[in-house]
Amino acid sequence: MTTRRTFLLCWVPVVGAALSGKLLASPPADALDEHDAKAESLGYRHDASQVDKARFPSYTPGQTCDTCQVYQSDASSEWGGCPVFPGKRVNAKGWCSAYQ
Ligand code: SF4
Repeated sequence: MTTRRTFLLCWVPVVGAALSGKLLASPPADALDEHDAKAESLGYRHDASQVDKARFPSYTPGQTCDTCQVYQSDASSEWGGCPVFPGKRVNAKGWCSAYQ
């Protein structure tokens, strides 16, 4: 039997996370895999703050895919296209060493 307390303990955090975007922010099916060989070689990360700065000293904080000249923005999504990774979408807040 589900009590009110059980209901609140189970569902309030889930709904809260969804509303805060934590669950809604899961990558789309065609998102670039950070562990793809090319993505690895270019140091791509969905979150630019996670870039290996020792390996990629050209990274400057504030650089993200959505400020990159080749990013193909999709206004309805936080994921967009990139010609460096054809057929895959990258995160607007991502970065790789092909940034320009
Ligand atoms: Fe992002 Fe630009 Fe790298 Fe493409 S080339 S993954 S848009 S930083």
